[in-house]
Parts: sequence; structure tokens; C-alpha cells
Amino acid sequence: MVNPEITIDAVVKQFRTGALALQDITLNVDKGEFVSLLGPSGCGKSTLLRIVSGLTAPSSGTVTVNGITPMDARDLISFIFQDATLLPWRTVEENVGLGLELEHVPLAARQKTVSKMLELVGLIHVAQRYPRQLSGGMKMRVSIARALVSRPRILLLDEPFAALDEMSRDRLNEELLRLYIEQLWTVLFVTHSVAEAVFLSTRIVILAPHPGRISHIVPIDLPWPRTAETRTSKAYEDQVASVSRLLRSVQTSTGEIE
Ligand code: ADP
Ligand code: MG
Repeated sequence: MVNPEITIDAVVKQFRTGALALQDITLNVDKGEFVSLLGPSGCGKSTLLRIVSGLTAPSSGTVTVNGITPMDARDLISFIFQDATLLPWRTVEENVGLGLELEHVPLAARQKTVSKMLELVGLIHVAQRYPRQLSGGMKMRVSIARALVSRPRILLLDEPFAALDEMSRDRLNEELLRLYIEQLWTVLFVTHSVAEAVFLSTRIVILAPHPGRISHIVPIDLPWPRTAETRTSKAYEDQVASVSRLLRSVQTSTGEIE
């Protein structure tokens, strides 16, 4: 039997301003799933991710992560945001090792872990550089390496690649999938890009705005492993076309245009 790693049950989020960001969201994410949240701006994607991470409490409804509250499950979760906020005065290596330093992990052990993570994301050759000397894609990889240092089981990513050009994004998508397979993560991923969502996901959840709610859930059954080749397959193109159609129907029915 598959265990849900994340359970979201009848979650409502109303802000003090009165905005109903989420209305009655129910969704289970099984161990090892890669679920993307897709939908127009303002449909509550970030809010939902923040609730799952324990940063925000729902107004009603419940969320569990690995059977416990998101707050209690914090050690299992890594949250990666779009703007890779690296400390400019620290080298790549020092940025990635920051969490371990704060936990007083001795230098030798720290260096070993940091090197391993930098190797995983293909950045060992820039370990001594400063953030200003890196491209946007490299900064994003540093921020992924930094998140991996804590050995998360669950990854929450909020539009991590939105600011990158298409080629860098495609490359990072491929790297992320390689790591996902290797590390056996459960992933909840927010994106605006249909192509990205189809390429990465086992399921796509399409949300509609005002109030934020689930409008469609689409299983993506493209074969694994998925590589650059996958993007040239007919099955991939068909999935992108059908998810785009669903997303358009959500946008036109609510009068929202991105
Ligand atoms: P998305 O990430 O899908 O663009 P958000 O989760 O950021 O959407 O926002 C969902 C809705 O909730 C929007 O209408 C937004 O204006 C509102 N909202 C988000 N955060 C807050 C907040 N801290 N206070 C008040 N309203 C908020
Ligand atoms: Mg958002």
C-alpha cells in the first residue's frame, strides 16, 4: 500500500484582508510522487506551499506531513524559492555549508558534505567563487545544493526556474529529475509553465482563482527516465497540448489572462 506523505484535507485560507486564497483544498501526495501545482497568478499556489511547509497556518482544515504536523515535520522538508538568496560575501562553498555551520558540524565533515552536494548539482568547479560571479542557473543550483545539505525527504519548490532562460530551465529540469530519482524525494512544485509541469510531474494539479480551488488533476504517464529526448516525443506534445487546453479553460472561465 502506498502511504500519503502529504495529506491536505479541506484546507481553507482566508486572509485578514478578506481574500479567500484557498477554498476547500483536498489532496494527497504519495511518497515518491512529483506533483506540480499549475494555475494563473493569485490562485493560491504559494499559499498552499507555505501551508504545507508550516510557514502559514490554514484558517480551517488539516495538513499532515509524514503523519505529523508540518511544523513538527520541518526537518524532513526543504523549501526552495525563485530568487536564490545567497549571501554575497560568502563563496559558493560557504553558502552551501551555512546550515551545517549553524549546527556546529565540524569543518572536515562539513567540507565532505558540501563537496558531495556541489558534485550532485555539477558545481564543484565553482566552489570558491562568489554569487556575483555566477549565472542565474548556477545560482539556482547553489540554492538547490544548499537545500540538499539537510537531506530532505520532501522538496517544496515555488517557481524555482521562472527567471531563467529556456535552455537553462530545460537543463535544470533534467538535473532535478535525475536527483529526484536518485534521492527518492516527494516533490510539490509550483510553476507557470505547462511544458515544465508535464516534463517533471507524475501528476499535475490545475488550480482556479477567486477563490483558489482545484479545478483538474491530470496524471502524467510519460515513461521514465525522462530525458531531453522525452520533449521530442508525440506523447509529450499531446500531454502539453491537453494540459494547456485545461489551463486556458480555467483562465477564460474566470476572466484571468496571465
Ligand atoms: P499564487 O502563488 O498562485 O500567485 P498566492 O498564494 O500568492 O497565489 O495568493 C493567493 C491569493 O491570496 C491572492 O489573491 C493574494 O493576493 C492573496 N494573498 C496572498 N498572501 C497574502 C497575505 N499575506 N495577505 C493577504 N492576502 C494575501
Ligand atoms: Mg506564487
